[in-house]
Amino acid sequence: VVPSNAALIGGLIDVCREAIAANADHLSELDRAIGDGDHGTNMRRGCEAVYAERSRLAGLPLPKAVEEIGLTLVMSVGGAAGPLYGTLLIEIGRQMAGLSEQAEFPRAFERAIGAVARRGRAQAGDKTLLDVLYPVHAEVVRRAGLAGIAEEAERAASLTFGMKAMRGRASFLGDRSIGHIDPGAKSCALLTAAICRFLEE
Ligand code: ADP
Ligand code: MG
Ligand code: MG
Repeated sequence: VVPSNAALIGGLIDVCREAIAANADHLSELDRAIGDGDHGTNMRRGCEAVYAERSRLAGLPLPKAVEEIGLTLVMSVGGAAGPLYGTLLIEIGRQMAGLSEQAEFPRAFERAIGAVARRGRAQAGDKTLLDVLYPVHAEVVRRAGLAGIAEEAERAASLTFGMKAMRGRASFLGDRSIGHIDPGAKSCALLTAAICRFLEE
């Protein structure tokens, strides 16, 4: 069943908010180990700000709604994650607006990930949310199916355990950042799983 535009937007907002609310303490705990302990709080603030605009956003065309969710995240999250997730969604929204068919989505997603990498001056292997976004993109290209994408996101987040952080606060720890899961990678996997579960229904 393909949900209406409003049900799709409202549903995506709801499941992302629930996934973050249910895991906010865990995300902050991960961030306490290699950062400043606020990633769960930051993400929850962003999701609540988006939720406050839910009915207005649900009335917009999907690309515009995604872009505006990104703008809201940039303004509300605070911390590195806000501008990065914000950039991702703003760019996905803008790229989607120019798509002539859904099959072009992977390219739009790829460009948006590139914008995040430029914004954070980060690359694959730097122990950031990009280490989930790139593998998720690869699974989308491979048409792995929603369950496969969610699984890959979780696997990719756990692989950040062995990485040394090269960007963000965690990079101040140098080698001591090794042996911890990156909080941004974890939130990205949680959001990916929530979105895939919702789209599967
Ligand atoms: P802050 O570090 O400002 O407190 P958060 O705790 O909300 O912000 O977010 C931290 C997460 O942001 C990290 O776990 C990492 O995934 C991501 N991150 C931080 N800096 C960068 C960067 N330069 N490029 C990409 N991702 C980054
Ligand atoms: Mg933090
Ligand atoms: Mg902070």
